[in-house]
Amino acid sequence: MPKAAPDDSTPAGGSSQNPFAAIPAVASLIQLVRAVGVSTLDDRHLTRYLQDVVSRERVAIEDGARPGREEVERRAVAAVAALERTRLSPVLNATGVLIHTNLGRAPVSSETAAAMAAAAAGYVPLELDPETNERGGRLREISTLMRLLTGAEAAIVVNNNAAAILIALSAVAAGRSVIVSRGEAVEIGGGFRIPDVLRQSGATLVEVGTTNRTYARDYAEAIDGSTAAILKVHPSNFRVSGFTAAASIAELARVAAPRALPVIEDLGSGALLDAERFGLDREPTIATSLGAGASIVTASGDKLLGGPQAGIIVGRRDWIARIEAHPLARAVRADKTCLAGLSATLRHYARGEAEWRVPIWRMIALAPDAIRHRAEALSDRLSSAGFVAEVWKTDATVGGGSLPGQVLPSFAVAIAAHHDLDASGLARRLRLGDPAVFGRIEERHLLLDLRSVLPEDDGPLGDSILAALR
Ligand SMILES: *Cc1c(COP(=O)(O)O)cnc(C)c1O
Repeated sequence: MPKAAPDDSTPAGGSSQNPFAAIPAVASLIQLVRAVGVSTLDDRHLTRYLQDVVSRERVAIEDGARPGREEVERRAVAAVAALERTRLSPVLNATGVLIHTNLGRAPVSSETAAAMAAAAAGYVPLELDPETNERGGRLREISTLMRLLTGAEAAIVVNNNAAAILIALSAVAAGRSVIVSRGEAVEIGGGFRIPDVLRQSGATLVEVGTTNRTYARDYAEAIDGSTAAILKVHPSNFRVSGFTAAASIAELARVAAPRALPVIEDLGSGALLDAERFGLDREPTIATSLGAGASIVTASGDKLLGGPQAGIIVGRRDWIARIEAHPLARAVRADKTCLAGLSATLRHYARGEAEWRVPIWRMIALAPDAIRHRAEALSDRLSSAGFVAEVWKTDATVGGGSLPGQVLPSFAVAIAAHHDLDASGLARRLRLGDPAVFGRIEERHLLLDLRSVLPEDDGPLGDSILAALR
């Protein structure tokens, strides 16, 4: 029960003393919102929403706030307007972090986006074979493409890599133990920790080696009757340097083979292209991991693979069949839009066109000189509109828990201030623009790094900056 009624029923004479009198009746707020024309909700839902707004105001007053009636009205209208704005409309990523988890990771190719939109809007023969009209597996196409691209015997796709690891460990090791290097019992991000996932799968973690050095013999000595698997986790978001040692997949495969144990590798990024060709460090690809002897490899679809969110599990036929048959498979299965998008993305690789069609690889492959020219053009455009903008040489990063510590040479447009806005004020204004622009702040300048912006977005980027600051 509210502690005080809205103004309509406030006893006469009490309103000037009663702070709750500042809260208008919901009916009058609805009239106000309709007059301003800021809502598309029907009356029933607008009423419910405003009741919520009003009860928040009431709580604030109980806590000592003393708003005026106009202030409450203004907030109510603003809250209704905020609900009309979609939060997930596209933004321009000028942060210089290519796989930005907070901005939704990898953008997909236009072909991939079209395939996903088409699958979402209509029906697809997800589990029917058009030739026979009989039921067929939903993963047939993806599995064929993954096998083609990686040399794996079998492949399945689930919702994300976290789900991939969870189901793989549940199917292979529940009730038994899994050996992990002390240096790899890590947190991936967002609270996702390897020891916790292992526990959740019903397996017991057996840590071997030390934080900085673990040898193949450490694993060999830890194997006993309860061992179900060896797990290797790619250190995707940190780097151990100095006096370090880690066992390779090939060494682990030699340890595991005589006992018929699987070696599971969580690769994280799941590159299908060789990063070294683009001036980056060697990043293990799915194919190299399998080639070295991993029995099961898991990876994300939306990191270096450059597709939709997905978890990819490839490996030996017997292990993949066991994972596919686990009850969790239904709980973590990928939907039709994911599968349609992944198929379109994988086809870019199969056609040998990934580095100029898959956005993440297009950005990685951008020549520094070309980025500099684009930054100069944007800076010129902003300067002629009255801004003080410079071109700075910067370091962009791949991000998304890929290639930690490595940078890609880049260029950014740097703006220190504009009229009364400092760098963080500018950044905020651009984040609220349409489309929103996200940059980063360095040395009290707002940097708009062009490595993470595709060249065809330079025009819209300039338009958006000018519109936001008009
Ligand atoms: C990113 C990452 C994960 C989690 O993958 P999601 O697709 O985000 O679920 C797991 N392991 C490693 C090594 C990673 O880099």
